[in-house]
Amino acid sequence: MARDTSPQCKQCRREGQKLFLKGERCLTDKCGVERRSYPPGEHGRGRMRQSEYRVQLREKQKAKRYYGVLEKQFRIYYQKASRQPGITGENLLRMLECRFDNVLVRLGFAASRRQARQLILHGHWTVNGRRVNVPSYQLRDDDVIAIHPSSSAGQVIRDATELTGQVPAWLQADHDGLTAKVLRRPERREIAAPVQEQLIVELYSK
Ligand code: SF4
Repeated sequence: MARDTSPQCKQCRREGQKLFLKGERCLTDKCGVERRSYPPGEHGRGRMRQSEYRVQLREKQKAKRYYGVLEKQFRIYYQKASRQPGITGENLLRMLECRFDNVLVRLGFAASRRQARQLILHGHWTVNGRRVNVPSYQLRDDDVIAIHPSSSAGQVIRDATELTGQVPAWLQADHDGLTAKVLRRPERREIAAPVQEQLIVELYSK
């Protein structure tokens, strides 16, 4: 599985805001954005010309990095979103939000999407009683998520739950039993991603 291996704090600094890619570290004063709040690279502190295209491009890059999706896969999500009824930008965000790795983070069962992906790839989770090892798996209404009975990652997952704030209303989590349920797909206002999806739609519509 291809993945972005570039330094995560640099990704946040490039986008000029915290994307919470590293779990617990993001909550401390070791955060790269807190320490160096300018873009990485030789010209990071120079003035950057802001064109409309550049603003749209950065928004798309930010969304990709936030959800940990590569360019090709992101474009496929966009194409699927544009074929669905409703607002394309919202459809796009909803699909990204319903990825298995993202849902584990929202539930508090992983400290970061990278950790969630690793737990899924190593077969620690089941959906509706069957082992699912695909991080991009799209969860649907009434899907039941549970730790695999033979998983040895229980403590790691419990540690992650300690960092969790509130679980969104479209999900239901049992942090003691390490199980959860998808009650429904999220509304736009329930998706906490720092992304203006309309800019991405404008970029891809050119
Ligand atoms: Fe981003 Fe987290 Fe690094 Fe801060 S610590 S720059 S939020 S990945």
